[in-house]
Amino acid sequence: MEVKILDYRDKYVKFILSDASPTFANTLRRMMMSEVPTMAIDEVIMIENTTPLYDEIVAHRLGLIPLKTDLDSFVRPELCTCGGQGCTSCEVSITLEKSGTQDVEVVYSNELISQDPKIIPVYPNIPILKLAKDQKIFLEAIARLGRGLDHAKWQPVSTVSYKYYPVVNFNLDNCTYCGDCVEVCPRDIIKIEDDEIKAVNVENCSLCNQCVDTCELDAVSVSTKPNEFIFKVESTGALSVKRILTESLKLLKDKSEEFKTLIDEF
Ligand code: SF4
Ligand code: SF4
Ligand SMILES: [Zn+2]
Repeated sequence: MEVKILDYRDKYVKFILSDASPTFANTLRRMMMSEVPTMAIDEVIMIENTTPLYDEIVAHRLGLIPLKTDLDSFVRPELCTCGGQGCTSCEVSITLEKSGTQDVEVVYSNELISQDPKIIPVYPNIPILKLAKDQKIFLEAIARLGRGLDHAKWQPVSTVSYKYYPVVNFNLDNCTYCGDCVEVCPRDIIKIEDDEIKAVNVENCSLCNQCVDTCELDAVSVSTKPNEFIFKVESTGALSVKRILTESLKLLKDKSEEFKTLIDEF
């Protein structure tokens, strides 16, 4: 198995995974999406809400705000030594208290006050609600670690996708270099230069087959490599993409070992 990084930033990575089965590629995608835990607001105690928004809508909005996650200091409540009762190892209290002093005022995510300075919203400028003059919002929110398996608010990725590595071939015996395939390709993959036709930046090919459909001489074909995949992973910002990848591989290893132990016990 091989990995080649094409683009790497703190919240985004594009890489080629080769010599891997489709099952492994899909398992890796699902581990990132569903199993790697992140912090999210899980419970809201509404003390005062005189805004027109229902308590449930405010709570739902709070749940979807990505929070910076510290996987080394927290555990999921169901795995905590407190037995899920709630303690400093499995939950963080976040408060919001604001009264409207102007005609219209927007309350943003950076106005949430966290008990733990490391567990704060990833982005400071996410609008939560609007306050009219003299309206008030006062609440305590409890953030906990959870998994995308249980609710999408805990997914560490906003996108995790892969496609098979494209292969674009030309039959030079049939090709007349008419350029029709070059014209229709939406990704500028096909080039004709100095009486030569070739595919460039082929990993950007969307496998749309427009070139194949356009060529009346069957001189171009598009296929895929069966064991090579192009992954794109975009983090919500709760964790770095590097941590998402390493955690998903660690969890996959743990699950495989647990499975092996169960088989051995037969
Ligand atoms: S459309 Fe067909 S014949 Fe024309 S340049 Fe492309 S591959 Fe060659
Ligand atoms: S399959 Fe689509 S994107 Fe790929 S080379 Fe053909 S026209 Fe371009
Ligand atoms: Zn606990």
